[in-house]
Amino acid sequence: MMASDDGSAKVLAGGQSLVPMMNFRMASPSRLIDINAITELDYIKADGNAIRIGALARHNQILGSDLVRERCGVLAQAYGHVAHHTVRNRGTLAGNSCHADPASEMPAVLLTLDATFHIDGPNPRSVAASDFFLGMYTTAVGGNEYLREIEIPMLAAGRRGYFDEISMRQGDFAICGVAAVMTIRNGVCSNARIAYCGIAEHQFRLTEAERWLEGRAANAATALACADLAASSVQPGGDVKASSDYRRHLVRVLTGRVLETVFNENGLERT
Ligand SMILES: Cc1cc2nc3c(=O)[nH]c(=O)nc-3n(C[C@H](O)[C@H](O)[C@H](O)COP(=O)(O)OP(=O)(O)OC[C@H]3O[C@@H](n4cnc5c(N)ncnc54)[C@H](O)[C@@H]3O)c2cc1C
Repeated sequence: MMASDDGSAKVLAGGQSLVPMMNFRMASPSRLIDINAITELDYIKADGNAIRIGALARHNQILGSDLVRERCGVLAQAYGHVAHHTVRNRGTLAGNSCHADPASEMPAVLLTLDATFHIDGPNPRSVAASDFFLGMYTTAVGGNEYLREIEIPMLAAGRRGYFDEISMRQGDFAICGVAAVMTIRNGVCSNARIAYCGIAEHQFRLTEAERWLEGRAANAATALACADLAASSVQPGGDVKASSDYRRHLVRVLTGRVLETVFNENGLERT
């Protein structure tokens, strides 16, 4: 149905973002294609060293999955900041990713986890997280395609992560959110990923900070210095919720907090 459409049809997954958009007339799809009866898309499964999450896996199923908690704890931990129980009962990770609200938490987490997005349509393809989130409400999924699956590598031994944010209220979208995942061996950081949400047109990795962390000691001084580097590297937008300066301040505070948590081994590591 997607392939035969002119590109203005929309997939209806959990409806937790699309229906509000339609209420506000920000979306007026020519056709709604409800995928909720396609049970083959409802799964969370292990496949070698990867976790595969189908398009119909709900937020709460992922949050409560033993597989996710044990092999990719940061994903479950970050879910504590996403919406409310009732919204999470219907909303899907795939829908959340395709909606691509710039203040959404999960795209930042998926960037740090090096997730891969499997897209189906006339030209099935797989897209790395770093090429998936293209702009405000814009992703690599084309008008006549749909996102079938998100593949997330399990965290290897010694690799751990953490997410934190400031929002207006618990369960609101992030004014600023920071996700970090890295390997720490013998007290030294490597292969770090740091990503932000809520401060720009789309979630992004701060590769300057990631490179800077390579080979550094995992201690408080490193966390503070990296937080300063992050704050001076970003160009946060300002809006009715927060000024650009305040968001820059949050980048500094939250980056330091998230890194210290990861360094202190409170980050949720694979068991
Ligand atoms: C009160 C409230 C609070 C919320 N708070 C937060 C929050 O703090 N953080 C947060 O991240 N989110 C929040 N959300 C949004 C929630 O996470 C949504 O569930 C999510 O953004 C969209 O998922 P969905 O499955 O409901 O998608 P839908 O609403 O069904 O779809 C969203 C968009 O994605 C497209 N789409 C969906 N699935 C696919 C697919 N498989 N392939 C191609 N396109 C697809 C749709 O066509 C549509 O354009 C909140 C929502 C509400 C109502």
